[in-house]
Amino acid sequence: MNKIRTGKIAVVGAGLSGAVIGRELADAGHKIEVFDTRNHVAGNCHTERDRETGVMVHVYGPHIFHTDDREIWDYVNRFERFMPYKNRVKTTSNGQVYSLPINLHTINQFFGKALRPDEARAFIEDLSDKAIEDPRTFEEQALRFIGRELYEAFFRGYTQKQWGCNPTELPASILKRLPVRFNYDDNYFFHQYQGMPENGYTEMVRRILDHANITVHLQTRFHRSWNGDFTHTFYSGPLDGYFDFENGRLGYRTLDFERFTYEGDYQGCAVMNYGDASVPFTRVTEHKHFSPWEEHTGSVCYREYSRACGPDDIPYYPIRLVEDKAQLAQYAARAAQETSVTFVGRLGTYRYLDMDMTIREALDTARLYLFGTAGTASIPASADLQRRAPSFA
Ligand code: UDP
Repeated sequence: MNKIRTGKIAVVGAGLSGAVIGRELADAGHKIEVFDTRNHVAGNCHTERDRETGVMVHVYGPHIFHTDDREIWDYVNRFERFMPYKNRVKTTSNGQVYSLPINLHTINQFFGKALRPDEARAFIEDLSDKAIEDPRTFEEQALRFIGRELYEAFFRGYTQKQWGCNPTELPASILKRLPVRFNYDDNYFFHQYQGMPENGYTEMVRRILDHANITVHLQTRFHRSWNGDFTHTFYSGPLDGYFDFENGRLGYRTLDFERFTYEGDYQGCAVMNYGDASVPFTRVTEHKHFSPWEEHTGSVCYREYSRACGPDDIPYYPIRLVEDKAQLAQYAARAAQETSVTFVGRLGTYRYLDMDMTIREALDTARLYLFGTAGTASIPASADLQRRAPSFA
């Protein structure tokens, strides 16, 4: 009979990774202590009702839940009702409003045409730079698949603002997040399931953590010197912060949000991007449109500015340029030496992770741990689980 160890386990970070791991282990009988430096749970997907307007605000910027993973969809729906929501993004470029992701409407409007799908495909193929066989950078990926005009109108300026560097320095993978469609489908995501938690993400995370075996310590900065008090630590805080930044700071972009209110409907949609380099912000989010089932007369909007993350700023997007990757390799080597600590999540593994992947990895990590501690000598060679465990790659 397998025996479950019930020593205390530390979970650092009360965001999605920490909450899901904590819950899985708590359900299996472990006692969990969760530590978070902030005064709320849910990490960067924290939502809060605005006092002035009653609108549910995505405090650290827009988070839209989407996934193709049925188990993850069922998991989040176990804790919160997900309301139908489709992310339809618009972008303003050179004084005109277009639909994103690039679709048949965008192409026809931009080039002043009335092309059908096959015609548009051939037209864009003609514009694409076929000399680029194996696109490695963001810019090469764009030139290869949509050509220079669309790239310059919608991606070059925005990406320069968002990442603070030339798109020639960024990996192609960032652009691969966005589809190009030769029909009128303007759903920003191509996943099967998409929605918004009825009472916000913070309520969902609060419910995940609501368990007799879980104690949450807010406004508490965990230090690795505390590891000895626990049989294991799951760390979802910043990887470089865990090592007191001894090998330098990993590069991140941070965001500044300029909040403003409006009586009525400010922009008619949740997200309006600004493609021009001359507009200093990347996008404006109008939060009430993230909850289309609610009615509010007042409106709260965020103008979003991206800049280099300083020591006192909140890290949002890992940059992962060559220099960061070299530094990451040093931290990853140190992390590998920590036998009773598992590094998880966006900050713990320094990766650009969507919410569904974060939850998937957290569930798999918790399961791996449970297999490994359930009386067997070692973690079983479950290829699928091994493959899905977090890594720094
Ligand atoms: N992007 C762009 N113009 C846009 C939208 C996106 O250039 O109007 C680029 C930008 O580099 C961004 C990337 O595509 O970082 C991925 O976009 P996504 O919407 O997935 O970014 P997120 O919502 O995660 O910030």
